[in-house]
Amino acid sequence: MSRKTDIVVIGGGVIGASITYYLSKRGKKVILVEKKDFAFGSSGACDQMIFLQTKNPGIHLELAIESKKMYKNLEKELNHPIEFQTIGGMVLIETEDQMRVMKEFVKRQKETGLNVEILDIKDGTKIQEGLSPDLVGTTYSPDDAHVNSLELIKGYIKKAVTFGAEVLVNTEVIGIRTKNGKVKGVETTKGTIGCEVLVNAAGSWAPVIGEMIGLDLPIRPRRGQIILTEEVPPYIKHDIISANYITAKYSLDRSFDNDVLGKLGVGLAISQNHRGNIFIGATREFAGYNTETTREGIRRILKHAGKLIPGIVNFNIIRTFAGLRPYTPDGLPIIGYVDEVEGFFIAAGHEGDGICLSPVTGKIVSELIIDGKTFIDAKLLNLNRFRHLT
Ligand SMILES: Cc1cc2nc3c(=O)[nH]c(=O)nc-3n(C[C@H](O)[C@H](O)[C@H](O)COP(=O)(O)OP(=O)(O)OC[C@H]3O[C@@H](n4cnc5c(N)ncnc54)[C@H](O)[C@@H]3O)c2cc1C
Repeated sequence: MSRKTDIVVIGGGVIGASITYYLSKRGKKVILVEKKDFAFGSSGACDQMIFLQTKNPGIHLELAIESKKMYKNLEKELNHPIEFQTIGGMVLIETEDQMRVMKEFVKRQKETGLNVEILDIKDGTKIQEGLSPDLVGTTYSPDDAHVNSLELIKGYIKKAVTFGAEVLVNTEVIGIRTKNGKVKGVETTKGTIGCEVLVNAAGSWAPVIGEMIGLDLPIRPRRGQIILTEEVPPYIKHDIISANYITAKYSLDRSFDNDVLGKLGVGLAISQNHRGNIFIGATREFAGYNTETTREGIRRILKHAGKLIPGIVNFNIIRTFAGLRPYTPDGLPIIGYVDEVEGFFIAAGHEGDGICLSPVTGKIVSELIIDGKTFIDAKLLNLNRFRHLT
């Protein structure tokens, strides 16, 4: 097989699928290449949250707010049920130390434009049953939402195909062709595809693609173990995380790390899907490309969940699984062309935010490739930001 296209997108996760959709919609000829099947990576082993409150105030939160806006029309646009719902979200606060950190975090989030407040535990209990009386408070934002990531990927792909995109599964990119410092195509296990632009959307495997042109990308797989319960009647009324989640994610103030958080970086995240299953997650660990769950990880997640919402441990568990978040040192994705090889574009490193940020990522990538500019300062997301640190 030897074919030609405008753009090759590498990776059939939520990011590659979104980019394929937004580029095809703007008339570009795109071939998406996935080594296994859609959602083989983190996008098929994750929670469902579009949680604005977990985003760092500033550009991170601005991206999430824009993405959430785009989500509002997405189901209609894709003509596919993606189970998008604005359900509201809470960050549970266990100690006065956490309250101090969260007050500052919430103040800065409000300054960036998020609708969020802090409630005492009495008021928190009015909007979510079953909270531990030992909690000191909670935040609440009506704007947090969730979506089914598998249906979302299906929706992006199906619609992209109607715009002329081609998708190749069970096809691994094994090399990149360049000439005079420019991308000329990709070599795959099923032949060569000629292109002028390639988008590396391989999530935690993006560094493997980078190595093919001698690039050292600062992305590492960060394992997240998670639990799924049986289907139960509506119980989790809003998406919920613990304040520990924020610190595990950003290492904000390790002074309130405790036995539960420990070296596994357990920060609780709980949400209930359309069918009634409850997701209870998750760990944040550097364990290479290992996607096994561990007794220790699952035990610690349950211990933390039981401490904050005691009744939750009464539900039966039907599945545990783990995914690899594509971690970057500053918690922001890497989006943009690289300087070394013309036509080599990166869109990876979304850590725990890829589902939330998928629409806005597709928008930014398509605008940068087609228009040469986008609505935010693209330098803030470019790979070069890490080089300027040294
Ligand atoms: C436990 C857990 C909970 C999470 N919860 C949330 C949440 O609630 N909300 C949220 O926004 N995010 C969440 N995330 C994060 C989210 O899952 C990721 O940010 C997102 O899925 C990353 O998408 P991606 O497309 O970049 O990567 P992936 O989904 O990993 O996709 C990369 C794809 O590239 C393919 N690939 C790799 N190498 C090659 C190659 N050589 N050739 C062809 N294809 C290749 C892989 O097979 C894979 O399918 C969670 C993650 C975990 C682990």
